[in-house]
Amino acid sequence: MESLILKIIYGLSILASIIIRRPHENRNKVNKIVDNQKTALEKTLLLLVFIGMMILPMIYVFTGVLDFANYTLPLALQFLGVLFMTLFVWLFYRSHKDLGQNWSVSLEIRDEHTLVSSGVYSKIRHPMYTAIWFWVIGQSLLLHNYIAGLSGIVAFWLMYLLRVGPEEKMMENTFGEQYKNYKSKTGRLLPKF
Ligand code: SAH
Repeated sequence: MESLILKIIYGLSILASIIIRRPHENRNKVNKIVDNQKTALEKTLLLLVFIGMMILPMIYVFTGVLDFANYTLPLALQFLGVLFMTLFVWLFYRSHKDLGQNWSVSLEIRDEHTLVSSGVYSKIRHPMYTAIWFWVIGQSLLLHNYIAGLSGIVAFWLMYLLRVGPEEKMMENTFGEQYKNYKSKTGRLLPKF
């Protein structure tokens, strides 16, 4: 496919993610935060992810400064990239819908926090992170550039590694046995068989 088409598909996915998240950001402002684990490390990781998944891709799409690091991929892998992006949009939407007012961009417990174990959360504990994995893999298949294509995987991998353990610990501290029980029935990123 034309690299312009691939860039447009990537741009549309970013747009979809902003549209999906917007109403949750607005609504959740009123649900008071009672436990905030937004550390300096957490803020740095959020910034890194923003650079890797949005800023570098934008620089690649709108300027030619990263063109020295371009690569090409066979058509089949490009289609796989489109498939990953489609899965991303679907699962990102579903997980926001199911998590509802409990959603936060970082590790936080809200005033009326409930443990969600229905919808996509009935099979997977971190469907939103699964969705973001789909995004960053899709990114590497759509943006044919060693910097802008791979920066998402590197940034999110780091964030995932440093976040998912503390997040589960926080949930366990808040919900105790209920979370342990939920944990035993679900997979982290993919359904447990
Ligand atoms: N890790 C989850 C949620 C990401 S949003 C996912 O990938 O789908 C991060 C916030 O979600 C955290 O601050 C935590 O408070 C909240 N959270 C995570 N799992 C939850 C669950 N099962 N029920 C309610 N809130 C949850």
